[in-house]
Amino acid sequence: MSQDNANTTQDTIFGRIIRGEIPVERIHDDDVCMAFRDIAPVAPVHLLVIPKTAVQSLGHASTAHEVMLGHLLRVAGELGRQYCPGGFRVVANSGVDAGQSVDHLHLHVLGGRHMSWPPG
Ligand code: AMP
Repeated sequence: MSQDNANTTQDTIFGRIIRGEIPVERIHDDDVCMAFRDIAPVAPVHLLVIPKTAVQSLGHASTAHEVMLGHLLRVAGELGRQYCPGGFRVVANSGVDAGQSVDHLHLHVLGGRHMSWPPG
């Protein structure tokens, strides 16, 4: 399933951040994605990596998004290594049951404390 629906996803808060309408400190910024700090951190380090293409969630990604998804993971790994030397967790909440609250695909990079498993 593919959903490159600009009318839906570009109007999320993340679309506004990408367009620069909401200012954030860009920890990472390239042609494919950007990263910034989560406004409500649940760990000492809590970063968000978001693609600049409009995909609603990981569950909406298709083969057309493979390169972008690989890029996102690579950037998340580099940020995790840089900001969380003790280790980190990468999370992609997808859909209601997972608690996704912004309908624009994003990766959480969490670290700076020990994390239990399984997540709640
Ligand atoms: P999720 O619940 O997985 O959809 O994650 C969305 C995340 O976006 C939440 O952790 C929010 O705290 C975060 N968030 C929402 N608005 C902003 C914003 N303006 N700046 C930074 N993070 C935000």
